[in-house]
Amino acid sequence: MPVAPHLPVIGDLLTSGFRLEVYCQHAACGREDVFWTPEEAVAKLGANTTFVQARRMLTCSECKAAGREQRVACRASVEDFYAAQDEAKIARWAIEYGQEAADQLRRRLGR
Ligand SMILES: [Zn+2]
Repeated sequence: MPVAPHLPVIGDLLTSGFRLEVYCQHAACGREDVFWTPEEAVAKLGANTTFVQARRMLTCSECKAAGREQRVACRASVEDFYAAQDEAKIARWAIEYGQEAADQLRRRLGR
């Protein structure tokens, strides 16, 4: 019998290499998004903690809004996700069209 997929946990960041993006959704708070390395996220929240559980543990350091009130949220860095997508595309282009085409694509993507 196949094994059911598990819910994403903070420890998955160690595999993907993506940072944890923590952000405050309180309308009156102007705090910038904070990024934790995968290692920092695991140390602070635990490797087996789901993202939903992690959110409940977080509090905004600026306005004191709480994740359990759904005012602070976290996710794997969207910026890191798109960077990884671009790097994979550049690597594919190097194989399929040669290094020069891959270098041109890298410049076009601003990587
Ligand atoms: Zn805040």
